[in-house]
Formats: sequence, C-alpha cells, structure tokens
Amino acid sequence: MKANKVLDSIKNYEAGKPIELVVREFGIAPEEVVKLASNENPIGTNPSVMRAIAQSAHKAHLYPDDSMFELKEALAAKYGVSEHEIIIGAGSDQVLEFIARAFLDEESSVLMSQVTFAMYEIYARQMGAKIVRTPSYQHKVDEFIAAYREHHPKIIYLCTPNNPTGDVMSREDVLTIIESVDPHTLVVVDGAYMEYAAAKEARHAVTPKDILAYPNAIYLGTFSKAYGLGGMRVGYGIAQKGLIATLAKLRPPFNITTLSLLAAIEALKDEQFVSDSIALHQEQIKRYETFAEEKGIRYIDSYTNFITYLFDEPMNSTQIANRLLEKGVIIRDLASYGMNAIRITVGTAEQNDIFFEKFAEAIA
Ligand SMILES: *Cc1c(COP(=O)(O)O)cnc(C)c1O
Repeated sequence: MKANKVLDSIKNYEAGKPIELVVREFGIAPEEVVKLASNENPIGTNPSVMRAIAQSAHKAHLYPDDSMFELKEALAAKYGVSEHEIIIGAGSDQVLEFIARAFLDEESSVLMSQVTFAMYEIYARQMGAKIVRTPSYQHKVDEFIAAYREHHPKIIYLCTPNNPTGDVMSREDVLTIIESVDPHTLVVVDGAYMEYAAAKEARHAVTPKDILAYPNAIYLGTFSKAYGLGGMRVGYGIAQKGLIATLAKLRPPFNITTLSLLAAIEALKDEQFVSDSIALHQEQIKRYETFAEEKGIRYIDSYTNFITYLFDEPMNSTQIANRLLEKGVIIRDLASYGMNAIRITVGTAEQNDIFFEKFAEAIA
C-alpha cells in the first residue's frame, strides 16, 4: 500500500530519550538517571496544579469545555487581548500543525533559520511544501529578508529564542521582518521560551500584543517550558480574529484533555512559580557558562532554559552524548542538525552537579 508521497521525505521527530530507555539499556536505577534533554522545567510540576489535578481526577469521564472559555479568558487578561484572538492546541505544536494545514500546499515554500525547531519542517513537508533555510544558525534579519525576496515563502518561522541553539532576536528585528513582507506571507513568532528571554533582557521580549498589530502574523506560546506542564500538552496561538477563525476550522473537538485544561488555568493563577523557575534557571545557567570557560568549551549565549555547547575537533558531540548516556545523563546531541554541539537543559543544582561530574569524565 502506497502512502502519500510527501511522507517519503519526512524524517520522524527525534524526541529526547526517555529515562526508561537508559534504565533498560544501561541498567541504571531510574532515580539515578538525570534527564536534561527535553527542556522540561526541572522544578517539577507546580504543587497547586498538582492539587487541582488530583481534586478533579473524578472528572476524567467528562469531555472538557470545548470553547475553553476560562483558559482563553485568563490568557486574554494576561496578555491584554480578546478571547477571539486565541486558539488552544495540544501543545503549541498542534497550533503549528493547524498553521501548516491552513496555508501550505505543494506550490508553497516556507522559510526558517538553518538550525531551528524540527517541527516546522515536518509539518511543512506533510503538506508537500518546499523548505528554504537562511545560511546562519542564528536568526539574522538581513538573511531572512534576502531569502524572503528570493523565494516568496508562504510562511516565515521565527523561533525566538531559538531551539536548539538558545540565541534570540531583538523585538525590533522581529517587527522589521514582519513589516518587510507582503500580506500574503504569514510570520510565525514562536515564543516557547519567551519568558526566559524577557527576564534576561527586555529588548528581546516580543509580546502577543505586538504581533496582534499585523494581520499576517501569529504568536505561539506554551505551558510546556516555564510553566512546567510539558506532560499536559497545552499551548496557544494569538493572532487577529480572522486568522484564528481560519485555524479553528482545523481544530479537532476536545483537543486538550479535561485535566490539561484545568492544569493550565490553575498554572496561570501562580506567576510566582514561573518567576521562581526563572530565578533558579538564571542562577544555574551561570554555572554552565563558568564550567565551559574552565574547560575551554565555546557556548552560545542562551536566552532559553537550556545551553548549547559547541565543540571543536577532535571533540565529537555524538561520542560525548553517548558516553554521558552510559553514565545516566541524557542530553541532546545536535549532530543531526549539522552541528558538532550538544544542548543541555539547565536542571536543578543537584542535577547540574551530576552533569558537570559526568561530563568531565566523558571528555577525560
Ligand atoms: C517546546 C517547544 C514548542 C512547543 O512545545 P509544546 O509542548 O508542543 O507546546 C514549540 N516550539 C519550540 C521552539 C519548542 O522548543
């Protein structure tokens, strides 16, 4: 049986390796495995969210409120937008999927940076679209505008801060790109790590409200990173009403679960958790910078909850990642992105201690 031919060119998304795999393959006890591979919040689940989930466990037989009114109302209040300007997805990943399905076909192309979030390409390829990348792994405004003029992509993806490199665009550069393209090109501003960037340097903070000024732009946010709810799968898109109405046609009913919905609502009531997460992160990431400097390793100045170490030959990212894995430390090898680099999610102080110890062993 022959599947749709567009699927032939798709490489599956390579998720961070699960703890279970290390336990199975290397016989390491689960409590000794340190997972710093998926940019999850190392503090864990917000206790008040945990309580809310536990108290509502008896509602698992009920479908969620499909209008997701309460969550949209809370997001609308947080960002100063209207409920009609918000769409909820099972992770912002699902909103990316709606966007690709709504706008792409075999005639279209999409533009993204050389090294960026893998799902942009996967969703675009599912629709048969062509992929165009800028030359640099950083998001450079001139490269984006030059590639736009040459290829006239249907969608431009700006991942700021960028996963898996951690670099960021200024708010000014983001708006310059949006203002440089014609209204038939959609600019997607993926702010999965925006909370971290905004806390580090205000000039990099792009808000949903900034993006709402343009009919051909959409802002994406998620509860998976700073809010610590990766396992609940809740994300959102914020754009003008017409664009949201288009995307809503692609949304399956009840696309997030009853418990995910209430978890996200509860998480929004507790901004202290987010600021505590960011404070811990800012303290711990400095240790990674100092450690790298001591070892003579280059790193990318990070605006996210992870840091990327860049290696020079003969150091080899795949070999280092494998050695770490055998020692129970899961990080992300970026060889598949064409980089001799690893991405490490900044963990708790204890997790980071273990990383430093095992990394030193791995490169010895
Ligand atoms: C984590 C991440 C997302 C979305 O994650 P969801 O869990 O699907 O909300 C989107 N974009 C980038 C760049 C990410 O790193």
